[in-house]
Amino acid sequence: MTEINNSVAKVSLEKLSATRKKYEEEAKKRLSRDASSKYLPLTDAEESRIRSLGDDPWVDHETLNQRPSPIKENSTHRFFILGAGFGGLQFAVRLIESQLATADEIRIVDSAGGFGGTWYWNRYPGLHCDLESYIYLPLLEETGYVPSQKYATGAEVRGQAERIAAKWNLTDSTQFRSEVKSVEWDENSKLWNISFTENRGPSSNPVERRFRSQYVYLAAGGLTQPQVPRIPGLSSFSGSLFHTARWNYEVSGGSQDDQTLTGLSDKRVAVIGTAATAIGVIPEIAKYAKKLYVVQRTPANVKPRNQRITDLEEFKASVASTSGWQRERQLNWNRFVTNSAKPGEKNLVADGWTTMPAYSALLGSPSHGIVDPSPENLEKHVSAFHELDLPTMEAVRARVDKLVEDPNTSNKLKPWYPSWCKRPTFSDTYLQTFNQPNVELVDTDGQGPSQITEKGIVVGGKEYEVDVIVFSTGYQLSTTRAASPSAKSKITVVGRNGQSLDEKWLANGVTTLHGYLTNGFPNLFFTGTSQATATGNNTFMLGFIAQHVAFIISEAVARLGSQSRPIIEATKAGEEAHAKEVLRRAPFFSTLAGCTPSYFNGHGDVAAIKSEEQRLKRARGSIWSEGARSYIDYLEQWRSKGTLDGLSIIPAS
Ligand code: FAD
Ligand code: NDP
Repeated sequence: MTEINNSVAKVSLEKLSATRKKYEEEAKKRLSRDASSKYLPLTDAEESRIRSLGDDPWVDHETLNQRPSPIKENSTHRFFILGAGFGGLQFAVRLIESQLATADEIRIVDSAGGFGGTWYWNRYPGLHCDLESYIYLPLLEETGYVPSQKYATGAEVRGQAERIAAKWNLTDSTQFRSEVKSVEWDENSKLWNISFTENRGPSSNPVERRFRSQYVYLAAGGLTQPQVPRIPGLSSFSGSLFHTARWNYEVSGGSQDDQTLTGLSDKRVAVIGTAATAIGVIPEIAKYAKKLYVVQRTPANVKPRNQRITDLEEFKASVASTSGWQRERQLNWNRFVTNSAKPGEKNLVADGWTTMPAYSALLGSPSHGIVDPSPENLEKHVSAFHELDLPTMEAVRARVDKLVEDPNTSNKLKPWYPSWCKRPTFSDTYLQTFNQPNVELVDTDGQGPSQITEKGIVVGGKEYEVDVIVFSTGYQLSTTRAASPSAKSKITVVGRNGQSLDEKWLANGVTTLHGYLTNGFPNLFFTGTSQATATGNNTFMLGFIAQHVAFIISEAVARLGSQSRPIIEATKAGEEAHAKEVLRRAPFFSTLAGCTPSYFNGHGDVAAIKSEEQRLKRARGSIWSEGARSYIDYLEQWRSKGTLDGLSIIPAS
């Protein structure tokens, strides 16, 4: 039975049906585009010019070369964490805080030259977190830090990662500039063998290194491999090219701290892409470039950001007034985005996310129970979400009309898809940018440029000559390797009996206990959303994954004794029971069928799935349909039951 826990303005059935028809037409246009729209991850490019766009522009080799290496050759460590972003850092903090490990017993490895993950790599002008920083920056209470604005800049968010590393003494435990290649289980030693390649700078050859670890935690994130579309002629372009994830301040002028992009003042710039990243960077380029072409394939859903400076007194009095305030605020936000606020509950964050109830079609919501999968009910379920969403998207489109002066441009900037099909974006300046005389929207009607030439880009047979092309075209998805946790980080993970994680995923689909461990891969844990939950607030989610995994390890140690070396593994029965719970909830996500391409649906690949077997495998990898709070409750109940159902814990010898 589908019930929407929200009172919505009644929308006319006629309007609803016309809008849905328009959504279908626009999605179809994009779903049927040809292979030229597919992507090339920078690291896979054969040409060194394109491959080098993925190099680390920020690393300080000189300083790092003076540090002793945190990992000695063939050494053995207790905990190995892949990734020094907020996922890896929060797990390390959990281990230390729960006294499972000292910082010295932990080794973190990252290909970056510093802490922060996403926030290390991304330093483009205009970058901010687009979730309120009071709920996004992790461990604010523990570090005592107060973000300076409601939406912190990229540099400020990275600062919090560095603060966390400093407070918990993780710097000496972290091996930077080191790309992990493989993680292999050794049945004899009951340890994981890890190999990585250390890059010591342009004057040294890369060094192949190895070490061992008792536990492995893969926190590789999902947005780490920048990609460009395979547009014919890409490398023939004679001007400057770069990707937003490796911003080139040598070309633009300025720096992350001083974003005056004077290098662009005599340049014609094209930005390809109009999603979350582009929405941040475009207004900054527009301030300086002689000419800016915004090359659009699908218009973004742009909501107001309502940026504000933090008022310290107000922050103390009404945000951080009690101990535990950050978690309470995160949960309050979560109830609003999953359309399950309690009657009369105050919306503490009151942002664009919490006033978009139909986005819960993507994140899950407890307001629906288990959705009956009969075709009639599914149609009712989907219709109800469209009805709930229409006022939100009508307001988004009306705002475009209000802010963009030229009616033709305004028309092309309107998003025609429901709010749950693409990640919403937030800006107080993006739309107004199109009123500037130096800015031109180049709409490609869903197709993208047909070619890149020596001089510029071709759209609809017309060549636009430019000096700089900025790719704001996102990140490679791991779907080509069945989205296994190893695919995210491009590593090989080999467990018991020589089985690789990719093989396991390809054969069975996602197979985990709680989304974070899997049979055949003892003492190995990973972050992720499949068979678990997504929250919209990623650091909040990474925090409770860290908590759950640390609990499992603590219990194992407590049950076997502190001198033991536990072997912790999901049982096959345990993971199948969990998959069953996820699967029976999966019909909720019927709302996503027919969505326009985005990285949520493998850029449209999901729509091309024909076989029932593939569909079932896909459904097994769904997230928990009742939302994050319900999932946290499910994990808490499992923990408090005390029987550790679905887990096997035995001593190493
Ligand atoms: P990451 O931060 O991606 O860290 C993973 C690390 O693993 C990286 O440093 C990477 O170098 C390393 N790594 C991967 N593979 C290997 C390997 N083989 N060897 C060595 N190292 C490896 N989310 C929000 O909730 N709110 C936001 O406002 C928000 N803003 C974002 C802005 C941008 C520009 C982007 C790209 C993402 C944003 N996100 C946001 C999502 C963001 O990625 C998460 O919030 C969070 O930072 C992810 O943390 P993580 O530790 O899981 O992954
Ligand atoms: P996305 O994958 O979301 O967007 C890529 C963009 O490139 C889309 O607009 C896409 O169009 C466009 N594109 C791809 N190929 C072409 C082509 N051939 N021609 C024209 N356009 C093309 O990447 P982002 O980097 O924007 O965002 C990734 C994620 O990172 C976000 O969803 C969010 O989770 C996070 N993020 C958060 C931010 C924040 O403010 N805190 C800022 C930036 C990112 P189409 O839609 O048609 O596919």
